[in-house]
Amino acid sequence: MNENRVLKLSKSIIVRSLLFLIIALTAVTIGGMYYFVNRHTQMNLASTFEANKVHLQQMSTALHNEMQQFGNQLTLLAKTSEIKSMDPAIAAGYLKSYNISPLFISGEKISLFDRNDSLICDNTMIVSTATKYPIDFTKITPHRPYISGWYRDPDNMRPKRAFATVVADNAKGNGSLVASFSAQRLWKILSDSKVGKKGYYVAINSEGEIIFHPDLEKWLADHHKISELGIRNFSPKNEEIKKVKFYTLSDGQEYLANYVYDTIYDIGLLSLQPKEEIDEQISTLLLVSKVMLVTALIAILLVSVWFYRKLVLPMTKLIVHTIKISEGDIEAEDIDFGKRQDEIGILAKHFNIMHGTIKRQIAELNAHREMLEQEVRERTKELEEANKKLDLISRTDELTGLPNRRDMLRTIDNEIQRIARTRKPLCFIFIDIDHFKNVNDTYGHACGDEVLKHVSGTIRNLLRKYDVLARYGGEEFLTLLPETDLMGAKTVAERFRSTIENTTVTYGKLSIKATITLGVALYDSALGVDRSIQMADRALYEGKESGRNKVVVWDPARTTEEDYKAAELERAAKNL
Ligand code: GH3
Ligand code: MG
Ligand code: MG
Repeated sequence: MNENRVLKLSKSIIVRSLLFLIIALTAVTIGGMYYFVNRHTQMNLASTFEANKVHLQQMSTALHNEMQQFGNQLTLLAKTSEIKSMDPAIAAGYLKSYNISPLFISGEKISLFDRNDSLICDNTMIVSTATKYPIDFTKITPHRPYISGWYRDPDNMRPKRAFATVVADNAKGNGSLVASFSAQRLWKILSDSKVGKKGYYVAINSEGEIIFHPDLEKWLADHHKISELGIRNFSPKNEEIKKVKFYTLSDGQEYLANYVYDTIYDIGLLSLQPKEEIDEQISTLLLVSKVMLVTALIAILLVSVWFYRKLVLPMTKLIVHTIKISEGDIEAEDIDFGKRQDEIGILAKHFNIMHGTIKRQIAELNAHREMLEQEVRERTKELEEANKKLDLISRTDELTGLPNRRDMLRTIDNEIQRIARTRKPLCFIFIDIDHFKNVNDTYGHACGDEVLKHVSGTIRNLLRKYDVLARYGGEEFLTLLPETDLMGAKTVAERFRSTIENTTVTYGKLSIKATITLGVALYDSALGVDRSIQMADRALYEGKESGRNKVVVWDPARTTEEDYKAAELERAAKNL
């Protein structure tokens, strides 16, 4: 039997539960993963953004301090007696001295001007041509250093700006001290700092011009704007990035951005960290989640296979087995699940026990039925025998063993139907023992019975093959002679009479003689059986009348019209 026909997998409660479990677990794991990764991504982004912001602020402060310090140093320098002397030799000597040269590490130039803005000296000592500083001398005040806008060094196009301060000496009047400030001072700070691992800083001025970029050669060889990096619609002075924001730069990558602008020193600082780097941090989490999902699915799959082998297959086997037995294969082999002690094992074990019980009970029932059938057969046989006996009894006279009157009439009917076809003659001999009453009266009834037996036995021995003798009444006998005419019948009757006459009946010590009177008649189909017998009876009566111990043959010519009519009436009455 095809087991799949028995249990469709789609109908199996176990398979359906497992499918549900797989779907539910997958959904929960994916949902959970999505939620945690998403949440973690948000948190990670926010915290990275905040950290970058703090660093950016620190960096901005460092840049601010660098320039402030430069201004302060310049102010202090302007107050020294050597500078205030306004003497070219003294001032120049001092400016190039070891004391102040570390202040101008990047090879900045520092120049001293008189109150007419004419150069007195500078720190190079080679005063061939006066350095052109992009400053308005009228704006130089004593209170704080004057700072020019950003400009480019014609030699190397590096961004620079000019710092100027008033040199005040009461005795000799005012002059001014002007120094160039190279952006290179800032680069060192910026280059040393990274945003995250792969991110970097970009510094711009209020014009959006790039002051610093890690790729110095490319971005500082000439004037470059921040828009060239891919950051458009950006207003350096007012731009604010308050929450997580990404810029897609010209290199095609996305960057997490932060920005701060220092109004005093006109320097905007932008921090850029590749999104890729931030994503990498969550990729581990993603990987862990994926591994978890795959592990869970494999576990479920293994459990499913286990369930299928341990539950679905044995259940199907059990069902097939049950169907086999229910379809009548009671001799089916026991189901074998080894030594399983679990539900299936117990079920199978007790199913086998139940099967055994049913088998035993059926065997017992069969044996019982066999016994009953045997008994019925025996009883039927007995009944049949009893019926046969009863039939024989009902047809036989007990005393003489001859057929009785009823049986004789049946035999006669059959014989008449036969001669109706053959048209052969048929005769009756009616026999009556003479003075039988006397025998009874003289020797007793038992003796009478003996005589009856003797007469009947003697006549029976004289019968031909197809002749029939019956006890017709008390001591009256009727003989049926098929295929015999009146002459033949008369001969037979005569033989009966003479034989009885010439024999004696022995009863105890007694020897008794008996004679019989016989009436012979031919069967006349127009008269019917009863009336034909009656004709024999009439002949017998005549025999009695005329002295007994004789044979009288009824001459059919003597049968009257009345006899025929009476017979006709009797038949009509019978057929009614
Ligand atoms: P008949 O010559 O005129 O026939 O004289 P009968 O005495 O024979 O007169 P009948 O035929 O009328 O008498 C018959 C007697 O037969 C009457 C009855 O008691 C006797 N009988 C009838 N059946 C039996 C029987 O089975 N056994 C004995 N012992 N007697 C019988
Ligand atoms: Mg009689
Ligand atoms: Mg008689």
